[in-house]
This record gives sequence, C-alpha cells and structure tokens, in this order.
Amino acid sequence: MTAPRQRPRTCVACREESPKRALVRVVRSPAGEVTLDERGKLPGRGAYICASRQCLEKARKTKALARALKMEIPEALYSRLAEHLETYEEGGETQGEFKLLLGLARRAGLIHIGVDSVQSQCARETLLILTASDSSKAVRDAVDNVPGEGHVHIRMPLGSEDLSASLGARNVQAAALPLRSGLSDKMRLLLSRPLRRDRITDVS
Ligand SMILES: [Zn+2]
Repeated sequence: MTAPRQRPRTCVACREESPKRALVRVVRSPAGEVTLDERGKLPGRGAYICASRQCLEKARKTKALARALKMEIPEALYSRLAEHLETYEEGGETQGEFKLLLGLARRAGLIHIGVDSVQSQCARETLLILTASDSSKAVRDAVDNVPGEGHVHIRMPLGSEDLSASLGARNVQAAALPLRSGLSDKMRLLLSRPLRRDRITDVS
C-alpha cells in the first residue's frame, strides 16, 4: 500500500509548487485571526509558504500573504514564522550531522549495533549508548540498565528507520560506541547545542 498522494500546494511568495510538508501553512480563522498552522489542519482560509527565509522575506515585502488571506498580517506572525523556520532548520541540520557521524563511526568500526551487542560490550568499556527516538520501552529498559559504570545515554533525534539507514543495518533501535572517542564527543556536543526556542503555539 502506498500512502495517498497529496496534491502539491503553491507558495504565495515564489509561486512554486511543493509537497505540503515542505511548506508552512498560515490560516485565517473563521473568527478573522491569523495563525501559523503547524499541523496543517486548522479550519479557515489557508495560504502556504515555503519553509525558507527567502520566501518569508518575499512574502513580507510583497504582501503576498496579506493578499492571499485578504487581511493585514500582524508583525507578530512574521516573527513567529521566522522562529518556526529557525527551529525547522536547526532540527534538520542536527539530524543530518548525526547521520553523518553515525556513518563515520560505522566505517571506523567503532559502532556496536543492537541491544545484544550493546549489552555484551558494556562490561568491556565505557560506552556512549544511543537509542532511537521511537525505540520500544523494552529496548530502552534493556540498554538504560546495562551494567558497568560511566556509560552515557543519548536518546537520538533520529527514529529507528534513520538510525538503521545510517548504520546500513535493519531495524536498529539501539547502538553504542566507545565513550572516549572523538565521534562520541561530537555527538554529545551536537545534542548539547540547544534549540533557540521551544515551540510556541500562540501568536496573538
Ligand atoms: Zn516559496
């Protein structure tokens, strides 16, 4: 079964069509308020804009968003959109870097893949233990409680599918590499870099 195909939407700024998920929806509610519609499901008149700084700037300058929604766009909405893009970009960037580091660890032969492998390695050395964001409770319980001292646990910003693909294996929910390695340091650094702002749902 393939997922139903969504018809592409047009960005109000660049007029190009993109799949819905690459765009941000802004909606004018039946009550006449404009909000950022993160889930793309709010009722009202909607307009789409690419998740890009360029298109945001263009929409602001040309008032394309205002025209599409037939209303004045408050400055707060543009700020909110800019914040949203920041989070969006940083999220994608962190994931990309993580995949890259996982690939390097794999090629360097440093990575132990799977719960069994993590469990057998944890007595031999101190590990950086990674679990997929969507790992099962059983997997988390198993690797969170491995014996040995000083292991560091990281819940990754990657799901099992991405983790598996980065490691060239199937159905991976947990992996580990030596804590004392340059790659471990880089992964920890990557995760300690805070997102500049948490999601804010309200824009008014
Ligand atoms: Zn655009």
